[in-house]
Amino acid sequence: MKTHDEGEKDKLGDTLHHKKKADEDRYFAEREAAAVQRLRDTGAAASAGTDARCPRCGQPFARTAAGSPSTICPSGHTREDPPASR
Ligand SMILES: [Zn+2]
Repeated sequence: MKTHDEGEKDKLGDTLHHKKKADEDRYFAEREAAAVQRLRDTGAAASAGTDARCPRCGQPFARTAAGSPSTICPSGHTREDPPASR
């Protein structure tokens, strides 16, 4: 019966280990999701147009007569999407 008991103990230990691992995975997954969401919010705000500013001169982009964000800043710089990396 000793072998059986040890087997049960190991099995329980594996179960706890796997549960702990799953909790850690979920923890990091949630952290990752939160970080991605923050980046997404920042990126959305940067490209939303309302508060978008020229990356070269910092002036806010004007709006067209139709109300949509202009693609050219007051200094004539064309609007560019922020670099994809970082
Ligand atoms: Zn500019």
